[in-house]
Order: sequence, then C-alpha cells, then structure tokens
Amino acid sequence: MFLSLGIRFEANVEAMNMVETTGNYSKHRRVPYIIESENLVKIIYVPAVSGESIDNAYQEPLAMEARAEDQSVCTLCTRGEFLKSMDQVYAKEKFDGRDLPKEPEELEQGIVKKCTVEDVGGFLYAGKPPIKRTSAFQVSYALPIKNFAVYSMLEPQLHARHAQLRDVEKREEGAAEQMIYYVEIGTAIYGFVFNLDLMAIGMSALTGKPVLSIDEIRSRRRAAIKSLARMVSSGQFGAKLSRFFPLGGIRSLVLTATDKPFTVTSPIYEKYEETTLKRLEKISKEFSEECKCYILGKDGLETPEDAFSKLISYLREKDII
Ligand SMILES: [Zn+2]
Repeated sequence: MFLSLGIRFEANVEAMNMVETTGNYSKHRRVPYIIESENLVKIIYVPAVSGESIDNAYQEPLAMEARAEDQSVCTLCTRGEFLKSMDQVYAKEKFDGRDLPKEPEELEQGIVKKCTVEDVGGFLYAGKPPIKRTSAFQVSYALPIKNFAVYSMLEPQLHARHAQLRDVEKREEGAAEQMIYYVEIGTAIYGFVFNLDLMAIGMSALTGKPVLSIDEIRSRRRAAIKSLARMVSSGQFGAKLSRFFPLGGIRSLVLTATDKPFTVTSPIYEKYEETTLKRLEKISKEFSEECKCYILGKDGLETPEDAFSKLISYLREKDII
C-alpha cells in the first residue's frame, strides 16, 4: 500500500527555513521557480522550505509515536538527532556493544530491528561493508503555489534585544545595552507532497524479506501514519516556531492510498484535487486496482484530521495496520 499526500497551507510571517546569518541578518531560504506570464516563461526567486526541514519534522513525531507503541527507537533518534547508524560508533548501540556483523544483511537487520526511525526513514552506513537503506517516505520542498508565487514575499523585520540598564557602568567595556537584528520573514501559500511506501517498512532492502513479525510491522506502519497526521495537525515543522509560528493554516489537502506507487498531482497547480481524482479513476480502471482518495471539503471531510481518520479506518479494514 502506497500513500501520497498533497497539501496547501497558508503561512503569514514565517521563518521556517533560515539558511545563513551574515552579521545580524538571518536570511530565509529562496529557490528559483518557473512562472509563465504573457506567454513568456520566467524564472523568479521565491521563499521555500526544504524537504530536509520537513523530513526532520516528520521523524520527530515518528520517534514519539513509535515509543508510544512500545517499539524500539535508538537514543539519538529519540532525542531528535537523526545522525543514524552512519558508522561503527553510531551503529554500536543496535548490537548492544557487541562486534558489528560482517554480513550486510545481518547489519541491516540489526539496525532495522532496533530503531523504527531508521527502518522508516532509512540510513547510510559508511562502514565496511557500506549499506544504504532508502527511506520509505519521500518529501518535496514546500514551494509557493503557481497562482500565488509572484505575490509571495520575503521581507526583513527589525528586532531588538535589550540588556538591563541597571548597573550598566559596572559592566565590561563594549557590553551593548541593545542589539538590533533582522530576520527575513516569508509569506506565501505553500504546497508540498509527501509519499509513504507502507510496504517497505520492516522489510529488508537487501533481501526483500521481512525483518520483523507481521504484528511488529503493522505497529510500525501505524506509527508512520500517525506521525504524518500529527505533523500536519500540529503544524510543527520548520524552524523558529517559538517566536515566528506562522499564522494561517491548511487550505486544501488530498490523501491517496493505492496498491502500487502513485503520487498526487502537485499542489502547486490549480485543481490538483480534481486532477488527482481523474488520474486515480484511470489507474483503477486500467490496472484493476483499488484506489482511495480523500479530499478535504469533499464527502463530509471537514478537517484534515477527518481525512486521516478515514484513511486509518480503511487501512485497518484491509489489515494493513
Ligand atoms: Zn535511530
């Protein structure tokens, strides 16, 4: 079973993805973007949030949900430090301090068993032998939607940090009472895509065979879906949320469940919900596959949470989770 999510959200005054600080100026990520106007194709620069940033925001609730389901999660992933089993030092915990196995299959199996986050999110072990486990989920950058891209804005905002004025004369020379700094904020309607291959969870990428029992695999799939729902519902993605929590919210959402890989139409395009539905109808007919499509605002789905709850019921019925 393959899940695909397309989502649009409005973010007013956000600093979700800062890329560099020069002096007292923090710069927002910006990327080249194609727009068409008056029969001309142009490239403009727009604010963006990287896939790495959203990936991090997904794996944090994944560690939390996995632990809530009594699954094994390594110390660093529990802390939200996703260095993963990149070498012998970081992989050691998964083997309880024993020598690491020499066979790639045994190494992968040991790591996957001991950490749900590394099972779902993949890892790259650069030891001998090197092992690459591809992530079961894929995520795009969040980019302004096409119709709105030219209106998306980046603007520096002035802020000041004040020191206490009391006893100022006693302080060392050069201690500033006030420091001004600029944070470049973005405002846009963003869209991004998130895919999740449920069938890759708990399976060896090397042998294609299950590494865990079917019950454990179901439990990990549940954690993988719940953490996606949690990320969308909580809006806990991106940086600087403590003082620049974006105002706005989810404008539209499409969630699909298919037997084979299928990606929703990109939410940067208008009518992406209808196009996704049309494409799915064709796939369902031509390949005789059962496809599910949950669209916010349709079939009684009033909130994003409704879409996830429908999906979870469906997957339960199918014995997938
Ligand atoms: Zn881990």
